[in-house]
Amino acid sequence: MALLVMKFGGSSVCDAERIFSVASIVKSAFDEGNQVVVVVSAMGDTTDDLIEMAMSIDKRPSKREMDMLVSTGEQVSASLLAMAINKIGGRAKSLTGWQAGVVTDTTYSSARIKGVNDRRLMSELGENNILVVTGFQGITRTDEITTLGRGGSDTSAVAIAAALRADRCIIYTDVDGVYTADPRKVKNAVLLDEISYDEMLELSTLGAQVMHNRSIELAKKYNIDLEVRSNTGEKPGTKIMEVISVEGMIVKGVAKDENIATVSVLSIPDKPGIAFKIFSLMAQNKINVDIILQSEGRNGTQDITFTIASNNLDTAVSVLEKNMASIGGQGLKIYEDVAKVSVVGSGMQSNYGVASRVFGALAGKRINIRMISTSEIKISVLIDKVDADKAVSAIHDEFFR
Ligand code: ADP
Ligand code: ASP
Ligand code: MG
Repeated sequence: MALLVMKFGGSSVCDAERIFSVASIVKSAFDEGNQVVVVVSAMGDTTDDLIEMAMSIDKRPSKREMDMLVSTGEQVSASLLAMAINKIGGRAKSLTGWQAGVVTDTTYSSARIKGVNDRRLMSELGENNILVVTGFQGITRTDEITTLGRGGSDTSAVAIAAALRADRCIIYTDVDGVYTADPRKVKNAVLLDEISYDEMLELSTLGAQVMHNRSIELAKKYNIDLEVRSNTGEKPGTKIMEVISVEGMIVKGVAKDENIATVSVLSIPDKPGIAFKIFSLMAQNKINVDIILQSEGRNGTQDITFTIASNNLDTAVSVLEKNMASIGGQGLKIYEDVAKVSVVGSGMQSNYGVASRVFGALAGKRINIRMISTSEIKISVLIDKVDADKAVSAIHDEFFR
């Protein structure tokens, strides 16, 4: 008997027909002799709809109330799926995040899971129930409901799999697995049989929405047997696992992130301590900074340009404006129409020629590069948003045609 954690995303439970189809996949797994915990996301576009409803009341609602609101989506799908499993002859029970023992920190809207108290889950499994747990949510030590960030149900599933020492965690979604690029955008994208935790972590952090990046951090930490596959349940998909030993470099995929903005702080004094001041301000406000570019000093001044996630832009601008006098800069320039396109693959740094192939593919389409950043496992370029899809295809063609 194996213990399986099976996660189904929003499109997999978007209507009654789909819910019954998930119910039958789950019941079959149980009937084959497995213990089964299912983790579900909210139905279809429910989370977006709830956010829109909130915006119609207040454009800047309290984060606590936002989490109270959006966490309801998963409660709907979990209870409906449990009903469907029961209807076809199974024995299922739905549980919310707190009932399932998912404890998080206090960061509303992007809470981190601190632990899963498995007592209730284990005792319910012991009574031969199929458990359907709401993804995306947890509870703080002071009993406040939190959510894990968009796409966070993947992380719920992996955290529960780790806590229960599950034999496998299977992420069912609306594509057949992890591809070399978003298969909805790039027609010749190739399905990968396997990918390493590190490569998947980079791809999801760099914009491949198929997996929530924090789920991969957890999967790596606890060495979870993880697979992404189609919600039809028929074919094997992509295994995400510890480093598959490779000689040299293999480009695994191309990802795009459009939720990004650049901020330039103009004409700052060219002297020690100024960068420290700017980036301490960002850190104090929990803003992650990605690519940083500092211009050559001229006449004692220079500019610093950096990228951040779009949803941090308002905070970054207001903090920098408030502190402009002490930074000594002459103003800010903001640019929002940018996208970051990245190629990911282990061993990139020891393989010359990858960067030049990326730049060559972009040059061939006359796409201008604004910023570049490289690491052992990725090369990212910042370009104009209008060029993003064209750039992904051009780079993908360069490596996968
Ligand atoms: P779910 O609702 O099941 O969580 P998501 O919408 O979050 O599904 O993620 C699946 C989507 O991720 C796919 O429909 C696909 O468009 C997108 N995607 C982006 N990059 C990739 C990739 N490299 N491989 C597979 N899917 C990708
Ligand atoms: N329902 C949440 C979202 O739409 C969580 C998830 O889908 O994983 O972001
Ligand atoms: Mg998702």
